[in-house]
Parts: sequence; structure tokens; C-alpha cells
Amino acid sequence: PNQYEGSKNYPIKVKGRIAIDSKNPSIMRDDAKCILCGQCLEVCQNVMSVYGSYELPIKDDTPCVHCGQCTLWCPTGAITEKSNINEVVKALNDPTKFVIVQTAPATRVGLGEEFGLEAGTIVEGKQVAALKKIGFDAVVDTTYSADLTIMEEASEVAHRVLKEPNKLPQFTSCCPGWVKFCEYFGSDIMEHLSSCKSPQQMLGPLIKTYYAKHKNIHPKDIVSVSIMPCTAKKYECNRPEMNAAGIMLGDKNIRDVDYVLTTRELARLIKMNNIDLTTLEDTEYDSILGEGTGAGKIFGTTGGVMEAAVRTLYWLVTKQDPPEVLLDWQAVRGLAGVKEASANVPGVGEVKVAVCSGLKNARIIMERIRNHTAPWQFVEFMACPGGCIAGGGQPRTSLPPSD
Ligand code: SF4
Repeated sequence: PNQYEGSKNYPIKVKGRIAIDSKNPSIMRDDAKCILCGQCLEVCQNVMSVYGSYELPIKDDTPCVHCGQCTLWCPTGAITEKSNINEVVKALNDPTKFVIVQTAPATRVGLGEEFGLEAGTIVEGKQVAALKKIGFDAVVDTTYSADLTIMEEASEVAHRVLKEPNKLPQFTSCCPGWVKFCEYFGSDIMEHLSSCKSPQQMLGPLIKTYYAKHKNIHPKDIVSVSIMPCTAKKYECNRPEMNAAGIMLGDKNIRDVDYVLTTRELARLIKMNNIDLTTLEDTEYDSILGEGTGAGKIFGTTGGVMEAAVRTLYWLVTKQDPPEVLLDWQAVRGLAGVKEASANVPGVGEVKVAVCSGLKNARIIMERIRNHTAPWQFVEFMACPGGCIAGGGQPRTSLPPSD
């Protein structure tokens, strides 16, 4: 039985409504395909944690954070990501454009499922090979800028612990779904957000400035594409302030990242080109910006940002490698919605952390911070339950964990 069916505002008049919500930069909604099953509401922890219930079909005024969890669950295709495949293909066919693509850590773990490989199979080298075969001029790794994010966030938390304790706990800021949620519902605690951009948005300006200069390419001729496990990244790259390269280069038309494709869209693009991913020879990322560490790679799962940041904090403060326990920090691993841990960092003291995934849990943690009952100095937030590995742009075979 459908508890939402026949709500008084939308009594099953699906066909009469506007078919596509054109304002959302991440999500497409076709009400003509909606069967009012309510799956999208069941999974939307944003809407349900705020309203408790909601009417169907989803209305345009929903405070959408663009995480795309609804696209994983809609059984009829009424809700999908907004595709940018056409724009990317057009750029690839334009001989005047240099099309460069960055790939996020979680995509190399998810993509194989679209080609029949076992869940969790790492296809990093095959993904690079496929992108080269499709015609991208260079393939670089978002892990590179995940490492930059870690360095920045760890430096910032060290500064706050020592000089600005009123801004503790520090919140991670690399998940655009979480940042949007905080903007909607946490305006009173926004100063806790780290000032760091996400890895995608750190690599974007580097490509249009540092890379362009190094390779002697005019930034205007570069089309910068991201492959992400995430629909919110489409929204993020369109945020007006994400034009650092344009500001540096004095041209407001230059965007830091031009287009984002989800893991699912990349799979479609590979299939459109009649490429069998499974038979490709592994290929290395290009240099420069193709290098990365293991710390950057674990960004793709819940707890990864925290583990990497605390290791880096340890190194920044002590100039020594962190102890073994922080190199495999089991306390922040696993799919529980909220995890707590602490680490002793000489010179800083005991650093207490929390790792939170899923917006229902984020709301609980936010209340504890408002009530001053939160003992932590650093909190990692990810909108998607389980983190980006179960992101809204991943294959629909990867069902998010239930917690
Ligand atoms: Fe995107 Fe990851 Fe945040 Fe989900 S958890 S909205 S996939 S950045």
C-alpha cells in the first residue's frame, strides 16, 4: 500500500503536471513516469528528516541537496541524473578543444559493475584505457587533489585546535550534498565548515592554470570534465563561486570544471563507443596531475577523509610518520552511520573525531553541536549513506547500506 498516494495537492494527476524539472542542475524528474511508489521519499533522508512526510510527485520547492540517492531507487526512471553526455561528445568532436578528464577514487571501484564484474572490482587502469579510446586528450586523477584537500584540512584543524577553538569541531567540506544541507539547515553553525574546496574543485583551477601553462595550452581551449560517483558534483561545478581560474585569468567565462559525468553516464559513453571495458589493457594516468597517494584514494568511502586527515595532521605537527594504528584506522572504517574515535597527536593532544554518513545522522550530530554536547574536534560528513562509494551516480546495482 502506498501511504502517499492520492495526497490532496496531487491526487494522481501525474500526466497533467510539467514533465521535467529544468531548474535542478543534477536531477531530472519526469512526473509522467512516476507511479507514486514513494521509494524516492523512503531514501531521501534530507526531506524525510526535515518534514517526516511529503507529498508525491516531489515538488520543485524541495530543498534538494542533489545527492541523487533517489536516482538509485526510482524503479521507473522517473528520476535520473541530468545527463551531460551530449555536451562532452560535442567537445570531443571539436578539434580545437583539448578535453581533459579527472576521475574520482570511487568511480574505479563502481564502474566494473556496469560491465558484469563483481562488485568492488578495481578497474582503475581499464577506466583510463577506455577514456583514452573514447578520445579524451588527457586523463588525470582526482586523487591528486584529494591529497591537497587533506593537507589543507589537516592544517586548518591544527590551526583551529591551537588558535581558534571556538570554531571546533571543524566539519569536512568535500561533499557538496552535505555543504548544501548545512547551508539549508545549519546557517547558525556554518563557521564550523572547513574553508577547503572539494578535490574536484581544487583540481579544476589547477587544470586551467598550472596544467595549461605547463603544457602550453590556452585555458580557453581546455574543456575540463570530471567522472564522479556523485550527482551533487554537477551542482557543485555550477555554483557561481567555482570560477577561481576565471578570476585568476581575468575571464569570467572560464569555469573551473565544465562538465561532470556520473559513473553511470561514463558506462553509457563507453558502451556508445562499443568498447568492452573488461578486455582493455590497463593504462596509466597521464602526468602531470595523475599522481596520488593511498590517503587520497580512501576518500571514496565513509571515514576515508578523516583517516587521511588525522594521519596528515600527525605528520604536519610531529614531522614523523604516524603510528601503525592510524595507517589502518579500523575505528573510522565500516558502514555504521556514526562512528567515533580518538587519536593522540603529540603537540596537539587527544583529537576526538566523529564520522557521519547519511543526512538523517547529520541532523542528529548537528543538534549535539548546537547543544554543546559534542566532544569532537573534527567531524566528517558525507550525504550518502556509506559515502561516495554508494553515491547517487554509482551503478544502480550498488545498493546503499541501510544504516
Ligand atoms: Fe556526492 Fe559523495 Fe557527498 Fe554522496 S557522499 S553527495 S557521492 S560527495
